[in-house]
Amino acid sequence: MASFTLHGIPVSRGIAIGRAHLLKPAALDVKHYLVAEDQIEAEVQRLSAAIAKVHEELQVIWKELPADAPSELGAFIDVHALILSDPIVSEQPLEIIRTRHYNAEWALLTQIDQLSAQFDEIEDAYLRERKQDILQVGERILNVLTGSATQMPRTSQGEEASAHMIVVAHDISPADMLQFRDRAFVGFVTDLGGQNSHTAIVARSLDIPAAVGMANASELISQDDWVIIDGDAGVVIVDPAPVVLEQYRESQNKLLRERKKLGKLKKTPAITMDGTSVHLLANIELPEDCSGAMDAGAVGVGLFRSEFLFMGRTGQKSRLPSEDEQFESYRKAVVAMKGRPVTIRTLDVGADKPLDKGEETALNPALGLRAIRYCLAEPQMFLTQLRAILRASAYGPINLLIPMLSHAFEIDQTLLLIEQAKAQLRDAKKKFDQAIPVGAMIEIPAAALTLPLFIKRLNFLSIGTNDLIQYTLAIDRVDHEVAHLYNPLHPAVLQLLATTIATGAKAGIPVAVCGEIAGDTKLTRLLLGMGLREFSMHPAQLLAVKQEILGSDITLIEPLVKKILRSYEAASIAESMERLQAL
Ligand code: PEP
Ligand code: MG
Repeated sequence: MASFTLHGIPVSRGIAIGRAHLLKPAALDVKHYLVAEDQIEAEVQRLSAAIAKVHEELQVIWKELPADAPSELGAFIDVHALILSDPIVSEQPLEIIRTRHYNAEWALLTQIDQLSAQFDEIEDAYLRERKQDILQVGERILNVLTGSATQMPRTSQGEEASAHMIVVAHDISPADMLQFRDRAFVGFVTDLGGQNSHTAIVARSLDIPAAVGMANASELISQDDWVIIDGDAGVVIVDPAPVVLEQYRESQNKLLRERKKLGKLKKTPAITMDGTSVHLLANIELPEDCSGAMDAGAVGVGLFRSEFLFMGRTGQKSRLPSEDEQFESYRKAVVAMKGRPVTIRTLDVGADKPLDKGEETALNPALGLRAIRYCLAEPQMFLTQLRAILRASAYGPINLLIPMLSHAFEIDQTLLLIEQAKAQLRDAKKKFDQAIPVGAMIEIPAAALTLPLFIKRLNFLSIGTNDLIQYTLAIDRVDHEVAHLYNPLHPAVLQLLATTIATGAKAGIPVAVCGEIAGDTKLTRLLLGMGLREFSMHPAQLLAVKQEILGSDITLIEPLVKKILRSYEAASIAESMERLQAL
């Protein structure tokens, strides 16, 4: 067969080379027949048992989550468990068997198809992603019914074969991804998915090359085809010519050698060639992530996304973690960081991180009751979190970070609630850091354009570029159809970034960047040239960024960055960016 190349969205970096392992949707093989009257209850039982089995499967996956599994995974598995418990999935198909006499698979598919059609009518990116979750749950039940496995084949072809297997699928659920990880697969390709789809997020955290949004790759690629994934370019080469294969093997080996070399920088301080010291901090989701942060040599935690403690609570007594439960988690993080500061961001729910999947979704969730807006609307819940964080500050340095602020009155109300939480702790004779620094995420253009309001009231700023770009360019960060427009180098984004960093510096208050761009080595020099001295990122990216810093001379970078900030044309910005890299 002739070699061909497919283009999609790059979501996880690196090169993977292996044989394709196709995962076909179970729905394709489903039998359709009518059940005899006296067999109906038995057929209902067969479907009920399959649903119960999937419940068990999910529980097992939960229990076997490795300690170092990305924290999002637990939440994703919980979403599937919730869907499975919903009567529209667990009861309605049983009714279809009883009333229409369809066999179990047919009944299930009928219901899933109907739900899917309902989702198709809603033009909302967030809800579209939930449709995929429902399809994935349906597929799991079907797999149990038809006896086909969603798991990777056992290593019957020998370790060698499984060690170089690339998963090709229409879509992959995050829960299934975890099993693939145990099987040492080397990459994955899917037809669906955007830059921030659940599966893409997991791939990035696992550091496995991946390309998604490949349209019909799962139809074009055949079982056992040789496949190369270029995770940086979002390109998949099928049945490559020997010379191409050789080239990619060489690049892959080079990458591996580079990675090994990076390991030597763990203890090296991040200082530029001109002697400027830079703080490299870690982004974490759960306290357990602190060990990875320490291993990578992070000087602290720049962003603890506390909402992950609030998500994935299926099966627990309360929908929200109690003050003591939260306190334990925050204390654990602070103790694990051994005196290095931990910046805890208060609850940032809403948008693509709903607190409760059962809750009605806002019409436009990214612009809705999100983050601090939600917390100010639920003051008792917010006070509980604030008390828990304050109590943990008795065990080590904590900075309190507030997401999504845009109005001065929101800052004032937040500060008032912090004072109230402090007063409650004083009354209860509980210890805490009386002078705990409080800072704001700068992630709404309105905030970046009214910095004096923030600087007057707060102790530090942290720029959330993931959202700042989303809101500046009006691009939903989870919608793959507009992913190509999501550009950190848009001059409007650059202006807001530079202004925030410069204004903070002038006022003498610390400014960090904690969005994904902080971990992108292609942007390190740009940020240094803007004056950024605090970068917070996933621990896996920290050493590569450090290497970039060690080889940078800010005195040479600054004039070029000034030029970039005066440019409006993309071509001129791109040209200066290239020159910046070549310095
Ligand atoms: C951001 O918006 O850049 C950020 C760091 O927060 P999150 O990605 O959790 O919205
Ligand atoms: Mg954000």
